[in-house]
Amino acid sequence: MADDRKNSGPHQYGMETRTIHAGARPDPVTGARNTPIYQTTSYVFDDAEHAADLFNLQTFGFIYSRLTNPTVSVLEERIANLEDGRAAVCAASGHAAQFLAFFSLLEPGDEFVASRNLYGGSITQFGVSFKRLGWTCHFVDPTDPENFRKAITPKTKGIFIEVLANPGGVIVDLEAVAGVAKDAGIPLIVDNTLATPYLCQPFHWGADLIVHSTTKFLSGHGTSLGGAIVESGKFDWAANADKFPTMTEPDPAYHGLTFAETFGDFGFTMKTRAVGLRDFGPCMSPTNAFYTITGMETLHLRMDRHIENAQKIAEFLDAHPAVDWVSYAGLPESPYHDLAKKYLPKGAGSVFTCGLKGGYEAGVRMVEGVNLFSHLANVGDTRSLILHPASTTHRQLTDEQRAAAGAGPEVIRLSIGLETADDLMYDLDQALA
Ligand SMILES: *Cc1c(COP(=O)(O)O)cnc(C)c1O
Repeated sequence: MADDRKNSGPHQYGMETRTIHAGARPDPVTGARNTPIYQTTSYVFDDAEHAADLFNLQTFGFIYSRLTNPTVSVLEERIANLEDGRAAVCAASGHAAQFLAFFSLLEPGDEFVASRNLYGGSITQFGVSFKRLGWTCHFVDPTDPENFRKAITPKTKGIFIEVLANPGGVIVDLEAVAGVAKDAGIPLIVDNTLATPYLCQPFHWGADLIVHSTTKFLSGHGTSLGGAIVESGKFDWAANADKFPTMTEPDPAYHGLTFAETFGDFGFTMKTRAVGLRDFGPCMSPTNAFYTITGMETLHLRMDRHIENAQKIAEFLDAHPAVDWVSYAGLPESPYHDLAKKYLPKGAGSVFTCGLKGGYEAGVRMVEGVNLFSHLANVGDTRSLILHPASTTHRQLTDEQRAAAGAGPEVIRLSIGLETADDLMYDLDQALA
C-alpha cells in the first residue's frame, strides 16, 4: 500500500511520470527493470507465525493470488496513484469491480441510485442481476443533480455515475452530485472508464470511490480484460455506522476486526479484497495486469491523440449531409460543452454518438460499410471502432430504456482510435455514401 509520492520528497511527480513509474521499482532480486509477470498461485511463508499473521491480516504480504499478486499489486498502486486515491484493488473485469464495490457496501434489501446514462452492461447488471441479490437500483436522469436527491431513501447506500457517459455523450455535474451524496452521508461512486484519470480525477470533485474497466483506455490495446476499485480514503464510515455495518461491525472471519477501524483510510479496499475477492474470486490474472501496466505507460500520449482525432471526426460528421446530429461535448453546440470544459478540460474523450438521417436501416448499413473502423462492442482501443447500439449492446433494453440511454435506432457509437484522422474521415465518408 506504499504511496510513491511520499517517497518523492517535496517534489510532486506529474501525471506523465506517474503513468510510467508509480507503484513499480526494479525487481530487488534480479534487477529486472520491467515489472515481471509473477505467474504463481501461491507464496512460501517464512514460518508458522508469519503465516498466521498473514491470515489474520496482521501483516501485509502474499498468500494466494486470488487475494494478492505482486504484478497485480503494481497495477493497483499505479491506478490509485493516478487517481490521487489512497488504495485500489483490481478485479477480473470492470463488471467484477462493480460487483465487488457494491458487495462491500450493500446488504440484501439495500438500495442505490444510479444515473440512467451508463454503459449498457451496467444497466443490466444493476437493474436485473443485482435485483436477484436483493439490491435495488433506482435509475435517474443525471442531467439534474436534484434527481439523485429525490430518489434517496433511508435504505440508499450509494450513488453511481459515469462523468462522461457511454454512449450518450452526457457529462454529469460531478461536483453537484458529490454534494448530494455528502448531504446524505453516502459515498459517490464514479465509473471513470471513459475519461481515465488523465482527463478527469473524480476525487478532486468530491467522489469517494472510483471504478474502472481497465479493459478500455487504461490497458489501451484491446488485449486484456480487467477492472479496478479505487478508494479516496476520505469517506467517514464511522460517522455513518448505522448505514454501513459491512464496514463498521466486527468481522467474525477475521477475529472480530472492523475494517473501518483497523485499516482506516484504506478499510474499503481491505474489505473488498479480504472478503469480496476471497469469497467470490474474480481476481485479475497477473498476465492481464502485465499487459495493462505496459499499456498504461503510454496513457497520456494515447489520450492526447484520441481526443485530437475525436474532435476532428466529430466536426467532420457534424458537417456531413447524411448525419442528423453529433453528440460530442467537445462541440460548442453540445448542451454539455460547459460541463466538459469544467470536468474534462483537456478534451471530452474519444467515444461519442451520432444520429443518422436514415434511421435503423442506415445504421446497420453504415457498420457494414466501413473498412478501417472495426464493427465490434468495445471502446478505448488503439483502433477505431464502430457500433450500432440498438442492434447490439443495447438490444436487451426496452425501447424506452434505449432512448433514455441515448441508444435509439438511428444512433451510431464511435470510439476514435489513433490512426491518421484523414483516413478515418475517408472511411466514414464512403460508408455514409
Ligand atoms: C466496458 C465498460 C464496463 C464493463 O467493463 P468490463 O471490463 O467489460 O467488464 C463498465 N463501464 C464502462 C463505462 C465500460 O466502458
